[in-house]
Amino acid sequence: MPRALWLPDTLRAHGLTVHETPGWQNRGSSTLNPSGVVCHHTASAAGSDHPALGTVINGRPDLNGPLCNVLLARNGDCYIIAAGTANHAGTGGWRGLSGNSSVLGIEAENNGVGEPWPAHQIDAYVRLCAAMCDGGGFTPDTVCYHREWAPTRKPDPAGPGIPSGDEWRRRVAEALTQGDAMTADDRAYVDAHDLTLLLEIKKLDARLTERMKFKSRKTRAELAALKADISALEAKVG
Ligand SMILES: [Zn+2]
Repeated sequence: MPRALWLPDTLRAHGLTVHETPGWQNRGSSTLNPSGVVCHHTASAAGSDHPALGTVINGRPDLNGPLCNVLLARNGDCYIIAAGTANHAGTGGWRGLSGNSSVLGIEAENNGVGEPWPAHQIDAYVRLCAAMCDGGGFTPDTVCYHREWAPTRKPDPAGPGIPSGDEWRRRVAEALTQGDAMTADDRAYVDAHDLTLLLEIKKLDARLTERMKFKSRKTRAELAALKADISALEAKVG
């Protein structure tokens, strides 16, 4: 996956309001191969909706842009910044991931020093993470905070309304199973079959995607077993 060109459509499918900034398709290097998400806050002054837009596109004197893949405004709208690798995570890591090319980055507008996060922005933030899991083909386990990625360097995201990282991942997982998080194909499948089986298949699919990243002999054997599991399940639901 050299560029995350699926971002706008997938975000819209998850009920988010999306604005495409001109040139997003070619912004950031094509090294991007994301297996997770790092969540940030912009540290922008409170009061306006998306004051960091220019900075996350163009960068700062000490750091070249783009500085994220998606900017989340205070009103919950999503601005698509870059389909390629963005400069956001830096040194650190999470559950085996390291390097900016391994993770998508979200910058959310908040001053980070006590500004309360509105419920609608938190709701959009969780759904944005779920949409990225969906589009990128990874699980909520590899969604993390920047302060989990780089605990000795970074405090973000912070402020009233931001739960623990584990609670965040639980909410993202929950968002992935909610009706409005489903694609049209998923909905048609649920209508034709039933939700429990769909979720089982999605779980197997996620495990399969996870295993495919590590192509050792052992995991190839596991892959074959998983494919058989999925085929059996699909045969059962017809
Ligand atoms: Zn950060």
